[in-house]
Amino acid sequence: MGRVNRSFPIESILNTLEGEYPKWDVPVVTLIAMQSGDPFKVLISTIISLRTKDEVTIEASKRIYKLLTKPSDVYGVTIEQIEMAIYPCGFYKRKAIQIMDICDRLVREFNSVVPDTIDTLLDFPGIGRKTANLIVAEGHNLPALCVDVHVHRICNRLGYLSTKDPDDTEFTLRRSLDQAYWKKINYLMVAFGQSLCRPVSPHCSKCPLLDVCKRKGVDKHR
Ligand code: SF4
Repeated sequence: MGRVNRSFPIESILNTLEGEYPKWDVPVVTLIAMQSGDPFKVLISTIISLRTKDEVTIEASKRIYKLLTKPSDVYGVTIEQIEMAIYPCGFYKRKAIQIMDICDRLVREFNSVVPDTIDTLLDFPGIGRKTANLIVAEGHNLPALCVDVHVHRICNRLGYLSTKDPDDTEFTLRRSLDQAYWKKINYLMVAFGQSLCRPVSPHCSKCPLLDVCKRKGVDKHR
């Protein structure tokens, strides 16, 4: 089980990142949630976004929204049309099947409403903890902890957590971080990780957290 540095000022760090956030690109699913306010669009774009660049996700999302505005629209399109709409996102053929299956199940079992609980979403094929948490947080605006590689890496680099993988980070945050910060830790650290605290050679010389960061595991930096 992961460890928490209880004396680490995580809330003040997140407040600092929030002040810097307007300078950075908004993470793609957060942007789609802000623009649409539609859990179904958030779900579809979250699936497209896995292992896919943000700019590809945005364009693929625009194309598939023309085909699917609600789950039942899936009965009027072919798998090839969905594949063409989301191409060239990563694993587009597998994701097209997944999108069809999810839409069908939403219609048959959930009255076309996207569930708002992690456990229900985890029961859908291909939806893991990261995806389920992102749908609950961004699609339904409820407290949920989406831990991706950026959140996991930055929490450990800072010296706030000592965890072995993103799931360990999620469960450690669940017992240590105030719920008021659950949703925002994702979009703040994703934007920060894409701009300054990069996976390889982070921009430490420009970082507003340099004074408090332990830079654990950082061998090379700019
Ligand atoms: Fe990341 Fe460097 Fe900033 Fe630490 S000081 S948070 S390693 S960019």
